[in-house]
Amino acid sequence: MEKVVYMDYAATTYTKPEVLEEMIPYFTEHYGNPSSVYSISRDTRKAIDLSRDRVSKAINCERNEIFFTGSGTEADNWAVKGVAFANFTKGNHIITSKVEHHAVLHACEYLEKHGFEVTYLDVDEEGFINLEELKNAITDKTILVSIMFANNEIGTIQPIKEIGQICRDKKVIFHTDAVQAVGHIPVDVKEMNIDILSLAAHKFYGPKGVGALYIRRGIKIDNLIHGGAQERAKRAGTENVAGIVGLGKALEIAVDKMEENNATLIELRDKLINGLMEIPHTRLNGPKGDKRLPGNVNVCFRFIEGEGILLSLDDANICASSGSACTSGALDPSHVLLAIGLNHERAHGSLRLSIGDGNSEEEVNYVLNVLPGIIDRLRNMSPLWHDFIKKGES
Ligand SMILES: *Cc1c(COP(=O)(O)O)cnc(C)c1O
Repeated sequence: MEKVVYMDYAATTYTKPEVLEEMIPYFTEHYGNPSSVYSISRDTRKAIDLSRDRVSKAINCERNEIFFTGSGTEADNWAVKGVAFANFTKGNHIITSKVEHHAVLHACEYLEKHGFEVTYLDVDEEGFINLEELKNAITDKTILVSIMFANNEIGTIQPIKEIGQICRDKKVIFHTDAVQAVGHIPVDVKEMNIDILSLAAHKFYGPKGVGALYIRRGIKIDNLIHGGAQERAKRAGTENVAGIVGLGKALEIAVDKMEENNATLIELRDKLINGLMEIPHTRLNGPKGDKRLPGNVNVCFRFIEGEGILLSLDDANICASSGSACTSGALDPSHVLLAIGLNHERAHGSLRLSIGDGNSEEEVNYVLNVLPGIIDRLRNMSPLWHDFIKKGES
C-alpha cells in the first residue's frame, strides 16, 4: 500500500480535525491567563469549565471532581502516590495487579522504597484478576486498590463494578487506570463504584500531553503540584487551555459515536483475529468477545521475534507494536504476556494490532495478505523453527 496503514491506536491516535479546530483559538485570540481578572480571561476560564463539564458528563461525576493533568501517566502517579502518602497513618498496604501499565507499576515500586507494601495480584490466562484473591488480599492495613479498567496490550476488560463493590464494602479506596477505556467503552464512575480514575486525551483522538484524574468528593489524596490555586490548588500551574479544550471536545465526540464506531471496530477486529489464527502455531492473547477492547488484537507467532515482524511490517507500510524485548530496549519481554503464563520464547513473538476509526476493511485484508508471507520468511530464518521441524514439539 502507498498509504501508511496505522494499526497502533493503543499507543496513540491522531487528533480529529474538529478537535483541533476547537483548540486553535486558544493559541491565538483567546490567550488570556485563566487566573486573571480581566475580560479576555473569561473566555479561557469558560472554555476550561466547558471541558470539565463534558468530561464529568462522559463518566457520570460532578464537575468539581475532575482535575486536569499533563498525561495519563501523571494521573496514574498522582492517584497511587497521592493516596498512599495521604493515608499512610491508616495503613501502608496497596494492592495492584501484575498487568498494570508501568505508570502504576513503577509508582508502586517507588512506594515500596518508602515504607509501603504492595501486593501484585496474579491474572489468569486471559488476563483477568480473581475477585476472591482480591478479597483475601485486603487487610486492615490496605489503603488502596489500583486495578486497570482495560489492558493496553491484550485488551482484557476487568470486572470493574465488582472490584469497586469489594473495595466499597471493605472501605478501601479504588483507583482504576481507565486510559484505554474512557471514550472506547461505557464508563460510569457512580454505577461502577470507582473512587479515582485516570484518563488521557491522546487515546481517544484528542491531543497528546493532557489527561485528567477523577477524584470522588471526600477521598483523601495529597496535592500533586504545589504552587498557585489552579485545579483547586491540587495541581498547580497555568492550565494547558488548548489541550484541555481538545480533551473535552474529543471525549464528547467519542462518547456520542461510541456505539456506532464499536460495531464497525468489532467486526474488523474479529476478522483480523480469525485471519491471523489461520497462520499455524499462532495463539490469541487476551479474551474473545465483549470482554475484549473493540480495537485490540494481540497474537503470538511461535519461533520468531516480534521485532523482526515489526520491521517487515514497516517495510509494507504497516504500523504495529510488539511485546518483544528489543523494541523497548529492555531484556525481558512484556510483563503482561509473562503474567498470563507465556514463556519467554512465546512472549517474544507477540504482535499487537490496535485498530481505530481510520482503518478500513481493505486495510485489514491487506494486513492479512501480507502477514503470512512475513511469518513464513522469518520462521525459515529461525533456528527454533528448524529445531521444531526436526524434533517435533519441544
Ligand atoms: C497510554 C497509557 C497510559 C499512559 O498515558 P500517557 O498519556 O501516554 O502518559 C497509562 N495507562 C494505560 C493503560 C495506557 O494505555
